[in-house]
Amino acid sequence: MRWQDIDVVIEKQLGDQQFACQRGCAWCCHQLIVLTHWEDGRQILAAARGRLTPEEFGVFERRIRDQAQAITKMGHAAAEALQWTCPLLKDGECVVYDLRPVACRSVFSTDAATCQAMMEAEDFDELTDSQQSVANEIGKRAFDLQIAINDQRPVDGPIELRVLLTRLLDEID
Ligand code: SF4
Ligand code: SF4
Repeated sequence: MRWQDIDVVIEKQLGDQQFACQRGCAWCCHQLIVLTHWEDGRQILAAARGRLTPEEFGVFERRIRDQAQAITKMGHAAAEALQWTCPLLKDGECVVYDLRPVACRSVFSTDAATCQAMMEAEDFDELTDSQQSVANEIGKRAFDLQIAINDQRPVDGPIELRVLLTRLLDEID
């Protein structure tokens, strides 16, 4: 399934709702990313290699490997709590924006300020009632979108992006 087709599924699900999301808005880029389709990881790795300088790619690879190792060692939940900045974020923009994973593509928010508050809060209870409501809507919408997309293409099984990219890097080496 091509990215354009995935975006059509997303557009149909969203209807005419208005969102604050745009390229360069990255408060949501501080989480672990679970992929359910491994080919996505291959495309992302190839694009990162082509779009980053060799020095930048070296830094990217080290961060990917270090974080993948930490996820394996401490477990997904503990690593998620660390809110690492995604290694694919460069100068505030996603290096692979056109190929970003379904987990990223399906996150839509009506309020970027709430996304910032979610990123900065240490606890969900620190958010105001209206921020909690927006946060819950983001989670539910993303879940529904991922179900709609996965209904239309075979699923390989869940794996964290950094862990998958490390495996793919080892295959190439
Ligand atoms: S989900 Fe929030 S942080 Fe992410 S692009 Fe949309 S508004 Fe920005
Ligand atoms: S892959 Fe791109 S959109 Fe997804 S978290 Fe990383 S930088 Fe953000």
